[in-house]
Amino acid sequence: ESLISLRNVGYRYRDGTVALHGISLDVKKGERIGLIGANGAGKSTLALILSGVLKPCGEYFFEGRPVTDKVRGELWKRVGMVFQDPMDQLFCPSCREEVAFGPENMELDGEEVDNRVRWAMNCVNLAGYDDRVPHRLSGGEQRRLVLASVLSMRPEVLILDEPTNNLDPESESELIKILDSLESTLIIISHDLCFLSFLCDRAVVMHRGHIVMDLPFQDFMKHE
Ligand code: ADP
Ligand code: ADP
Repeated sequence: ESLISLRNVGYRYRDGTVALHGISLDVKKGERIGLIGANGAGKSTLALILSGVLKPCGEYFFEGRPVTDKVRGELWKRVGMVFQDPMDQLFCPSCREEVAFGPENMELDGEEVDNRVRWAMNCVNLAGYDDRVPHRLSGGEQRRLVLASVLSMRPEVLILDEPTNNLDPESESELIKILDSLESTLIIISHDLCFLSFLCDRAVVMHRGHIVMDLPFQDFMKHE
């Protein structure tokens, strides 16, 4: 019944750095997890594994099925990832193309692509930005555009890496509203416990490549 299940998952980078040791994690559909821990704890590595970018050792099951190389290559359709730096994810000449890229790659028909683009652009308050040039937008607008480009794929799981970095308080409350309106399972990497407390029902704390705490978010806040 878990959407995501990791069993004894590890990851070692090419230079020999062991970023994750024996991680086991179960995520149910609709859960909203705050992924917390000091720099270097392994949070981003875990996110890259969940989204299929990195291939871990150990076992990864998505909807109960083992994530083989073939499944992993298609995981981007189901697990959306918003990286810390929007410039890592913006590469099209116009906002519309950026948001249409995912659905087009999923080979959806033109009308469905149009509907999804419109929905995603509205969702992040960028209606009317279709022909704007992504790299000329403000930092906050770029972040919303990246979010739209992931939302247009309607991912079952949405992973965000430090989504509140450099956001002003108003943009932050906007982002909370947007994320709260989604049905996707959420995994949010953040140091901003206040932000997480508005959204998350579960806290997963990492330290040096291990999960050291996994508890209801409210209990975690009492703990702090
Ligand atoms: P966090 O997201 O919690 O800051 P990371 O997953 O980025 O942690 O990093 C976990 C460990 O892996 C750290 O020791 C980090 O230096 C190392 N690491 C991250 N990316 C790479 C890489 N591309 N090559 C080698 N080591 C890396
Ligand atoms: P591999 O050779 O390891 O199968 P690829 O080079 O095909 O990997 O892609 C690496 C990862 O990048 C994929 O597993 C997938 O998670 C992600 N990816 C590939 N294409 C896209 C895309 N169009 N949008 C988002 N993520 C993608």
